[in-house]
Formats: sequence, structure tokens, C-alpha cells
Amino acid sequence: MLFCKDSLFTPGPTPIPERVQKAMSQPMVAHRSKVFSKNLEEVATRLQPVFGTKEPVIIVAGSGTSALESAVCNVINEGDHVVVVVTGVFGERFASICEAYGAEVHRLNITWGKTCQPEELEDYLKTVNQPIKAVFATYCETSTAVLNPIKELGEVTKRISDALFIVDGVSCIGGVPVNMEEYQIDILVSGSQKALMLPPGLAFIAVNQRGKEAIKNGTSKRFYLDLNRYIQSYDEQTTTPFTPPVSLIYGANEVCQMIEEEGFEQVIKRHAVMRDMTRAGVQALELPLFVEKDADASPTVTSIRPEDGQANAIKNYLQEHFSMTIASGQKQLKGEIFRIGHMGYCTPFDVIQYLTALEFAVNALYEKDVFGLAVKTAQEVWKKHV
Ligand SMILES: *Cc1c(COP(=O)(O)O)cnc(C)c1O
Repeated sequence: MLFCKDSLFTPGPTPIPERVQKAMSQPMVAHRSKVFSKNLEEVATRLQPVFGTKEPVIIVAGSGTSALESAVCNVINEGDHVVVVVTGVFGERFASICEAYGAEVHRLNITWGKTCQPEELEDYLKTVNQPIKAVFATYCETSTAVLNPIKELGEVTKRISDALFIVDGVSCIGGVPVNMEEYQIDILVSGSQKALMLPPGLAFIAVNQRGKEAIKNGTSKRFYLDLNRYIQSYDEQTTTPFTPPVSLIYGANEVCQMIEEEGFEQVIKRHAVMRDMTRAGVQALELPLFVEKDADASPTVTSIRPEDGQANAIKNYLQEHFSMTIASGQKQLKGEIFRIGHMGYCTPFDVIQYLTALEFAVNALYEKDVFGLAVKTAQEVWKKHV
């Protein structure tokens, strides 16, 4: 094999721009200093349009799951009835966290690879004959690569119930549109290592006024993840209650700078184009897409289900021959699908790169001459936006 540069196309962690790396290598500063407070405030407010929120975004040190857990432990009390929309591994994780905090969990199980339709949620909510404290949903279900219709699910939630609407946006916030007021989301959480092109380690939580009230009134036991502490520290001293990951917050500020320079609308458009290029290219190779409907497909990750169980062979081929890392399936989809992340610091040229690698894999594993097919098809899609 000829030498190749390492490339990373997993749906998290994702590549880090050099200028973000550089921002993170600045000398350490005290976290009880003006310079840190200024940085924290810049990040918390510059992220507002990305989260579609009117409030500064809460920042906690932890992986994405700590953001999910904080969305549960701050508002769900033992015995509360909650509805969790489960479209894959991460919906299931929300349900497990709710169970850990003693909630009565009602799972709306959707076939993996499909989105939850608003009518399905509506019918399901009507069958729960209990006051529902919260409805939990996953925006992009990373394990299957669907993008749930969050705005429509929010509309149904609020029309049918008094529940809080709590959304996991870990693998798409920063690459998709969102507006908490319009989508009727009370709590929206995300992490740093996916579309926000940072290393793992930051949890982001955006909360509206109703969410804040619920957090104040929460009775579940909690300490490090008690969001009241974070809100109070920020409001009173523009700082965090515990030592924050100062370097990551420097990096986050540089990410905000990059998003502003490109324009968030353009960022969203770039992700949509990468999804369309990827789907068109994969279809040109006659590899079956796991998410059948274009309207259900996430702009940040694509899943492919080769008919003859070659998912792992393709993934391994890319690793061995091109030093290119993609992801396999999780849980029941292990060995069934492979997934390509195209989010954050990723451009149409990167799409061309992994489609080229896929052409080689199909050429070798299926003994089919497909050189140029996926690339050309994707270029035709890209051409409309050059
Ligand atoms: C990655 C991810 C998470 C959280 O993962 P961590 O490993 O805890 O960072 C949660 N939800 C979704 C949808 C994800 O993609």
C-alpha cells in the first residue's frame, strides 16, 4: 500500500481545524479571571444562534452523555411518567437514563432506519393515561443516520400534553437548523466532538424559561450536574461552579469565529450538500442506503447496508488501504451497516475523497469496475452549489 494521510470520517469524534488546535494551545489562565469570564461569555452567547436559543448556552465538562443525563436528572423526579421516542441506540440511552432516575418510562419504539412521524407520536401520547412530565427525542439518531422531524414532534407534544420537550442534538447541532421557540423545545443538549468540530469533553445544554423553572423545582439527587449551580455561577460571576476545561472553551470560541465567518446558513447548506452528494454517490455504486427516504436522512451522517453482509469488509478495506476510518453499526446493526460521518470540519472535497475510497473497495470486493461513478455523480450534485 502507498502511504496515505490518516483521515477520520466517524460520526464523532470528528477532525479538528488547525486554527482550533492552535486556539486550544494558548497558555493556561486562571478560571476565576476576567480573561476566562470574557471567553466563557463569548462562547455561551455566540453559540446561541447555533442552538436557536435566546439564553446563553450552559457549558459542562463531560461527554455528550453527561448532557443527556443533566437533561434528565435536573427535571425528572422519581415516579414521573416520561415518553421516550426510541429510533435507535441514543433514544434507548435517554430511556435508560430516565429509568436510572426512577422515572416510569413509556418507550415509543420506531423501526430502526425510520424517523418517528408526528402522527405516531400523537397516537402514542393519547394511549398514555398519565400526566406526562417530558417527551424525549433524538434529533439525529447517529446509530441509524436518520434526522427526526423535531419541529413536528414538538408541535404534537405541546398540542397533546403539558410535557416538557427535551431533545438530544449531540450529532447534528452545528450542522442543522434549529429554533427552540419555533420547534417548542424546552431543553436542547449537545456535545463538542461531533458537528462542533472540537475534541470530546464539553457538554452543551440550552434551556428556555420553562426548562429553567423545571430545573429549579427538580427534586432528584444531583451535585456535579445540578444545572442550578451552572446558571447561578454564570448569572452572578460569568463563570462555572467547578474548574472548566479552559482550553476547550478557547477552542469553542474559535469554532464560533469560524461559523460566523462562513455564515451559519452556509454551514447548514454545506451539510445538506454533503448528505446529497454522499447519497447520490453511494447509489451510483449500487450500495443500498440504510435510510431509504431522502427526507429522513441526516445531513451529518450516512449509513449504508451492503446486501451481502460486506459492511465490515468495506470498513476494514478503507482502514487498511487508505488509513481512512469510518464507523460500523451498533447493537443490532453490528456487521449490518457501516456509517460515514460528514459533519463539522468536512467539505465536499472530503466527500469526493471517501467516495473514491468506496469505489476502490467495491472494485476490489465485488470485482466490479466502478471507477469514477460515485465521484462523477457526486460532482453533479456539488456543481449546482459551486
Ligand atoms: C455521540 C452521541 C451522544 C453522546 O455520546 P458521548 O459518547 O457521551 O459523547 C449522545 N447522543 C447522540 C445522538 C450521539 O450521537
